Amino acid sequence: MLHPYSDDYRAQPEHIVAHELCHIYLQSSDESRVDALATRWVDARRAKHLAVLRP
Ligand SMILES: [Zn+2]
Repeated sequence: MLHPYSDDYRAQPEHIVAHELCHIYLQSSDESRVDALATRWVDARRAKHLAVLRP
């Protein structure tokens, strides 16, 4: 995926993929509901990775 640099978390590839997966998971086109879950998924994944890197 080609994308211009942006520090907006919603523009990060990981968030974009999570967002699209949440549309499928929730079977919803409600953008705010989908994006809220995508944000939780990405935050949880990041916390898990940080826990592994810094036990
Ligand atoms: Zn969407």
